[in-house]
Amino acid sequence: MYNVREKIGIYPGSFDPVTLGHLDIIERSSKMFDKLIVAVLHNKNKKALFSAEERVKMIQSVTSHLCNVEVSSFEGLSVEFARAKGAHVLVRGLRAVTDFEYELQMAQTNRAMCPEIDTIFLTTDLRYAYLSSSIVKEVAYFDGNIEMFVPAAILPLVKEKLMEDNRK
Ligand code: ADP
Repeated sequence: MYNVREKIGIYPGSFDPVTLGHLDIIERSSKMFDKLIVAVLHNKNKKALFSAEERVKMIQSVTSHLCNVEVSSFEGLSVEFARAKGAHVLVRGLRAVTDFEYELQMAQTNRAMCPEIDTIFLTTDLRYAYLSSSIVKEVAYFDGNIEMFVPAAILPLVKEKLMEDNRK
């Protein structure tokens, strides 16, 4: 049983891998809830570089300083996962207008399916406005420096994974 008075937020995403932009949203939104659950989407139809377990472990390792943050993976709809966890708020990050159209559509669809769950948007810190997991992978793939894009603790894991991937 969860505590009905506890304010729980869900931050869903692919996090393939987690970036400093994601971490900034996690740190800021964790202050708004009693508990923030970072929810890693395990999408069987979308090829990810990291497995869902690896993504969960990486986020756990970079959020260990945040005592009200929990990390899990889920399959299916974010709203269903939120419902199962007793959460009423989905957190999403907005970088630019290009994110807005899709995010608005997603939030409205989720609201149509689950009116008791709201989506809130946090605008990106300007330092990370251009940053995405795909850009990180692209730069790392060509052996570029990704130090300013991902938390230091996961740097070796990203490099190692791409080397592994290149050998395939
Ligand atoms: P998804 O596949 O759900 O878009 P992502 O892992 O790419 O998953 O992103 C998860 C959430 O984090 C999304 O709401 C996305 O807009 C947000 N996000 C991604 N990168 C940044 C960033 N640099 N700054 C702020 N928010 C971000």
